[in-house]
Amino acid sequence: MSVRTSVVIIGGGIAGLAAAWELTGADKGPDQSSPRVELIEASEHLGGALASDEFAGRVVDLGPDGFLARRPEAVTLARELGLEDRLEAIDAAGASIWLKGALEPLPGGLVLGVPTNAKALKAMKGLSWSSRWSAWRDEHAPRKFKVTDDVSIGAILRAKLGSELTYQLIEPMVGGIQAGRVDELSAAAVFPALFEAAQRGGSLMKSLRSGAGAPSGPSAERVLGPLFMSLTSGVGSLASELERQLRERGVVIRTATSATALRPSPSGTYPWEVDTADTSTGASAVILATPAPTAGRLTAHLNDHLAELSSINSAGAAMITFVFDASDTELPATGTGVLIPLGTEWNNDIMMTTALTFLDRKWPHLRREGEILLRAHVGRIDDRRSEVLGDDALIERVRHEITTVLGRVGVPLFARVQRWPQGLPQYYVGHQELVARARQSLAPFAIRLAGSAYDGVGIPASIGSGRRAAREVRELLSAGA
Ligand SMILES: Cc1cc2nc3c(=O)[nH]c(=O)nc-3n(C[C@H](O)[C@H](O)[C@H](O)COP(=O)(O)OP(=O)(O)OC[C@H]3O[C@@H](n4cnc5c(N)ncnc54)[C@H](O)[C@@H]3O)c2cc1C
Repeated sequence: MSVRTSVVIIGGGIAGLAAAWELTGADKGPDQSSPRVELIEASEHLGGALASDEFAGRVVDLGPDGFLARRPEAVTLARELGLEDRLEAIDAAGASIWLKGALEPLPGGLVLGVPTNAKALKAMKGLSWSSRWSAWRDEHAPRKFKVTDDVSIGAILRAKLGSELTYQLIEPMVGGIQAGRVDELSAAAVFPALFEAAQRGGSLMKSLRSGAGAPSGPSAERVLGPLFMSLTSGVGSLASELERQLRERGVVIRTATSATALRPSPSGTYPWEVDTADTSTGASAVILATPAPTAGRLTAHLNDHLAELSSINSAGAAMITFVFDASDTELPATGTGVLIPLGTEWNNDIMMTTALTFLDRKWPHLRREGEILLRAHVGRIDDRRSEVLGDDALIERVRHEITTVLGRVGVPLFARVQRWPQGLPQYYVGHQELVARARQSLAPFAIRLAGSAYDGVGIPASIGSGRRAAREVRELLSAGA
């Protein structure tokens, strides 16, 4: 009698859930060849950072509030789950930056924060004359900087555009995506367009400008569709809907359960066994969709390169969501939010807030008459001050910082702190090689890696990574591995 194949997925963030969806036939549903699927999640909640909750009379996302829509993965998954009528396009554009004690609109033509036109910086009062000159020089007499192997984003930017533009203008955006520092983040892994532009040599800005190529602004909206999207039921509903449909398909979902070991089982019915505190599940194949250090710990005994996964660090962040009375609070006339450079001085201290997001400007379903729904982002890889403050103290501190930035802010009608202690993996220089070595080491085994530690940070990349791992596993199983 043939034994039904069994796949264990460890980690129930969006990557693990997407892997389970793909393993069970995606939008077509399971068929006779579909494996038994068991998903093991350490926390009580499925979805990882995707979490929506009732707050101030709306369903608000406590983690990601939207996703890139010009990559297909998240939009496609929402459609496959039947959530198409809840997809909502972002309803605001542009942003401001807090420079030298004043808010300024960010100039047009930025590519991940990097200017592509020196003229666009001319009007920025918060930038010194010499930094604007650095941009002009890059267009007309670019500095030489030879790039062959991977290098930090900061090394390229400092060499080509100087320190002020690097730390004051560009780091707040590109570093903000991973809550990391440009001097540590890998150019090849985090910002390939910058890496390639630097390898070509010549003007960085001109090279990025020609590479940017795609239309932007209102004409791009018409041609390419909106840049970002959300769901009117909250981005977290992507995870809760997946959970509901996966359970209907018979996927065994175990929350509040950590996988503690993964080992070969040469004499068992299945080639692998996955342990939890009180169970052991046989598996034909395993998908590791946990943070990288956990994947490293579970597989280090198979090959030395896999222990290297434990060196992939993660940054924590806290998000403080406020509702203010609109009559007491003043926002910049336009834009989705404000960026604040790291190291910005404030009251004989350094600001903790790194960005503000105007949630109800971005997403129409969150708007309420007379209210402003705003989120402050706090924490970077090297700034863990928020972790030692209690929620009330953090709310108070951040409210004061916001008052400095916006000028006029009322007493919050509601405020809520959400902490993500390990949410954002850091892709340091050499990241791609490290991941390639780990994947190569796993190639002989029916074990695959998935998630934001490997193939890009963000919801679409994590979904794509989970689904790709599942397709590879299905191919291995159908080949009889
Ligand atoms: C504060 C914040 C804001 C963000 N904003 C955005 C945004 O606006 N747009 C966007 O696209 N992306 C955003 N991201 C990034 C995005 O949320 C992530 O890239 C994505 O959710 C990662 O999914 P994942 O499944 O790879 O990992 P995770 O969500 O980290 O899932 C891994 C899971 O593994 C579980 N686990 C760990 N160890 C074990 C074990 N031993 N056994 C079983 N389970 C285990 C964990 O509990 C966790 O649930 C944000 C992230 C954070 C933290």
